Amino acid sequence: MNTALPPAEIGQIQNNGAALVSSLRMIGPFVVVLAAALVLPLVGNDYWTLIGTRAAIYWILVSGLNLAVGFGGQLAIGFVAVLTLGAYVASVLAAGTVGPAWPAFAALGAAGLSGAIAGVIVGLPALRLGSFYFAMTTLGFATIVTQVALAWGSVTGGGTGVAGPALPAPFDTTLGFYGLCVVLAALCTWMTANVAHSRFGRALIVIRDADVAAEAVGVSKPAILISIFLFAGAVAGVAGGLFASLQSYITPDAFTFDLSILFFIAILVGGRSSILGPLLGTIVLTVLPELAAPLVAWSTFLYAVMLLVIVLTIPGGLAELFDMLGRRPIATGRIIAPRLDLVAALFSKPPRREAVNMRDITLRFGALRAIDGLDLQVRPGEVHGLIGPNGSGKTTTLNVISGYYLPQEGSMMLGEAQLTAGVPHSRAAAGIARTFQRPRIVGEASVLQNVALGGTVSGRASFVETLLGLSRHRADEARLRADALLALRVVGLESLASIRADRLQHSELRFVEIARALMLRPAVLLLDEPAAGLAPNEIARLGQLIKAVAQQGTGVLLVEHHADLIFDICDHVTVLNLGRILAAGTPADVRSHGEVVSAYLGV
Ligand code: ADP
Ligand code: MG
Repeated sequence: MNTALPPAEIGQIQNNGAALVSSLRMIGPFVVVLAAALVLPLVGNDYWTLIGTRAAIYWILVSGLNLAVGFGGQLAIGFVAVLTLGAYVASVLAAGTVGPAWPAFAALGAAGLSGAIAGVIVGLPALRLGSFYFAMTTLGFATIVTQVALAWGSVTGGGTGVAGPALPAPFDTTLGFYGLCVVLAALCTWMTANVAHSRFGRALIVIRDADVAAEAVGVSKPAILISIFLFAGAVAGVAGGLFASLQSYITPDAFTFDLSILFFIAILVGGRSSILGPLLGTIVLTVLPELAAPLVAWSTFLYAVMLLVIVLTIPGGLAELFDMLGRRPIATGRIIAPRLDLVAALFSKPPRREAVNMRDITLRFGALRAIDGLDLQVRPGEVHGLIGPNGSGKTTTLNVISGYYLPQEGSMMLGEAQLTAGVPHSRAAAGIARTFQRPRIVGEASVLQNVALGGTVSGRASFVETLLGLSRHRADEARLRADALLALRVVGLESLASIRADRLQHSELRFVEIARALMLRPAVLLLDEPAAGLAPNEIARLGQLIKAVAQQGTGVLLVEHHADLIFDICDHVTVLNLGRILAAGTPADVRSHGEVVSAYLGV
């Protein structure tokens, strides 16, 4: 019997096999932690179950905070404020000090809701303030909430406190309550993992590590940070309600600054852009002081020492110990071999054929005219070269088109539509993609994730759909992954897909950026010195790739210093000097322009 499969199907099966192994590797450690949590009450006593409960509650808060701090790089130090608020809302409602007493679970729900609102209020300053000032404002919130709890005695019981919500059976026993907290903690882990492995998670990391690139791929920082702080606040509020239940009685001094530090350090010790690391960090920091009773008084000191030791020995945190991407060996002597035959497949949905038209654009930095009355047109399907000496305004021109700078004069159109300046994150949706003179890559993410970032605006699933892992989220991820692999294949780097981007060579990063830009099937592609730092044979392949992309209908604006590349592949060349056009026309026209030849081409 002939059971041989066509090669394509064998490839598919191998792919599925590899995907299965990698997802097992990802899920495995969480299953181990969950199993340990389930075994704990069997092997330990009530005391250890109580500590396990506390670790689970802390993790419910840290899981959400981790998205903001670890993934998004937003230093919300004072998040204990939201825990405090949640604890008081749940306790006060359940105790009935205002109006009739609420059922305990309804009070927990209200704690989550108030936490979500508080999370956004605590998080909003992040949109305007630098990280240091933002960290300080979150501390301010922590103080305010505690002070209000202290002062508003008629409701909160002031310094004497208020009883925490008493949950109904079967959650009123140590074991029952522990079970509830573990289930909720597992749920939070799953939800944050869904976010982490989605365009939202990737958007957070790129905001943290390369915010200019975030704008270029269409990430709206306010939209994503508000969603994240809503979620982080909601889970922190619920954690507060559970915390109050665990304590059975809360006073303002239960919510110390040390607690906030614990949450924060758990994330730092765990490692950025990891879920497992901060989970283990939270468990370790909760359990450590309990191992020896005398250590409790020293817990803050212990946290600090641990942080120092980790930062000095493994800067990437606990996550670095499990990081396979960072250690997998990669071949030396690699060649970047773009697959021009696959460009058409990538553009199976052809780009919108729209020209960029700049009319009389002037941009001044103070007294300096970086661009001075520039007229420029990038037509669909054409490669337009932009050359000129350093400081002549080439990068500035790209920055104007991609919306970073507001020109003082002139107008800019894409097709029939006005291109509004000052809103760079709107460009991706309009079909304008770009690369940067210095590659803006998320070093800690895999090459594939970096490329997938380029497809951010094509995602359809809402944040809530992503949290809950619904089908639109899964469809988004499957499509973005397939697209990113194809884009990597096109630029000739698919063998590096799962490698951490910071392990790549400079020339490879340039091609990764191009793959990321191609994810948009852009109407207009802006390339800022893509050949800088490339070997001559790489430059030749880059040229062929650019031409092949233009043949699909994309208009390419190519800033370059390599005259050969420009004259080989451009349909039109504009020469800038001091922000003004010195010469423009076909390569032949420009070559025959005396001033250009003597000044820049050295021939
Ligand atoms: P290049 O053609 O080398 O890419 P740029 O467009 O980067 O040149 O710069 C054009 C001029 O504008 C240079 O004189 C540069 O110093 C100045 N410039 C660029 N960006 C800024 C900025 N953000 N603030 C002030 N001056 C700037
Ligand atoms: Mg430049």
